[in-house]
Amino acid sequence: MDIHAQYRHTWAEINLDAIRANVSSFRKLLSPDKELMAVVKANAYGHGAIPIAKEALATGATWLAVSLLEEAIQLRKAGIEAPILLFGYLPEEFAPIAQQYKITISINEASSFLELLAHVQQDIPPLTFHVKVDTGMSRLGIGDETDILQLISHYQEYQEKTTQDNRLLRWEGIYTHLATADEEDTVYFDKQITVFKNVLELIKKQGLEIPYVHMENSAGIIRVPQFPDTNLVRLGISMYGLYPSSEMKKKISFSLQPAFSLHTSFSLIKQVKTNTGVSYGVTYVTEGVKWLGTIPIGYADGWNRRLSNQADVLVMGHRMKLVGKICMDQSIVELDHNYSKHDRVTLIGSQGEDEISIDEIARKLDTINYEIPCMISYRVPRIYVKDGKKVMD
Ligand SMILES: *Cc1c(COP(=O)(O)O)cnc(C)c1O
Repeated sequence: MDIHAQYRHTWAEINLDAIRANVSSFRKLLSPDKELMAVVKANAYGHGAIPIAKEALATGATWLAVSLLEEAIQLRKAGIEAPILLFGYLPEEFAPIAQQYKITISINEASSFLELLAHVQQDIPPLTFHVKVDTGMSRLGIGDETDILQLISHYQEYQEKTTQDNRLLRWEGIYTHLATADEEDTVYFDKQITVFKNVLELIKKQGLEIPYVHMENSAGIIRVPQFPDTNLVRLGISMYGLYPSSEMKKKISFSLQPAFSLHTSFSLIKQVKTNTGVSYGVTYVTEGVKWLGTIPIGYADGWNRRLSNQADVLVMGHRMKLVGKICMDQSIVELDHNYSKHDRVTLIGSQGEDEISIDEIARKLDTINYEIPCMISYRVPRIYVKDGKKVMD
C-alpha cells in the first residue's frame, strides 16, 4: 500500500543534498578506476529507493544493488538503466524475469549454474551473474574450493559450446562480503582477505578473466580505500550519512551528513493536574501540573514501543520526554510549557543546537543505526529536499 496524500503532519524528510555530499566524498576518496555501487536494498535503507538511486547515479555511482528482484524491477520501472546487482538468492526458475529486466544476479553454488542453464531463455537479453564467495561470513556464497573448481569447469565447458554472441549466461563478477570490517581488530578481516585472494588466484590459474571484483562495504572502504585487488566497491550505510560503527567514525577523514530526519506536530496540547496517569497501563504519572502534547505517530509507523518513556523529542530546540506507552498511532510528550499546535516536533534530526541522532535512537533500542530508518513504516511519507528546497519525487 502506498500513501501519497498527506492528511496528517507526520513525515520523514530525506535530504538529497546530504546523499550527494556523501557519495561525492567517497568518490573523491576512491581512485578513479574504482567503480562505485550504491546499495539501495530495503527501499534504500528506508530512505526511498528511486530518488536515492537517481541521486547516487547523478553523483558518480555507476552500479546499484538490491536484495530482491522486486526491488530491482521497481528501479527499472522508474526508468533507471544502470546495472543492478541482486545480492539475494533468486530461485533459478525466475531467471527469465531477471533477463527481461537486465538484472545481474548472484550465484552461490556450482549447481545453480546448471539449473540456470536449464531456465535461461533465448531472444531476450542474456543473464549476467556475479559469483559470491563465502570467505567467513557464512551466509551466502561458495564456501569450498572444490565447488569453485566445479563452477569454473561448468562455465568453461559452456564457453566452449557457445560464442560470445549466443551465450545466454555470462560470468561478469566475483565478490565476497566482510563480517568484521567495522571493528578495531583486523585479524578476521585479514583472514577473509587472504581467503578471497586465494580464490582470485585460483580463477586466474584456470585462465578465466572476470571483469568485476568487489569486496568493500562502507566500513571496508573507510578502512582500505585503495584496496588493490578490487575495481568496484559497495557503498551502503555511509551513503546515508551514518557511520558503520564508532570505530569507523574515528577512522574516516571527512564528516558524513545524515540524510534522514523524522518530524510531526501536535494533534492536541492540554494542561493536566498533578498525579494524572498517561497512556495504556499508566506507566507514567505527572508530578505537578503539566502540559502534555499528543503527537500522531506510533508503533504502526515504526516508532518502536520499546522507546516508551525512553526517547526524547525536540520542540523549538528544546528536549522533551516521551511519556507513557507509545500507542499504535499516537504518543505523548511532556512539555515544559504550552506550545503552538503547529510547532514542529522532531523525533530524529536537529533543531537549533540540539540533535537527536539515529545513533541515539539505536542505542536506546540496543540495535545498530541501520535498523532505525528501515523500521519507519510505509505509513510515514518520505519528503525530499534538494538544493535546500522541497521537491516532488
Ligand atoms: C548491505 C550490503 C552492503 C552494504 O553494506 P554497508 O555496511 O551498508 O555499507 C554491501 N554488500 C552486501 C553484500 C550487502 O548485503
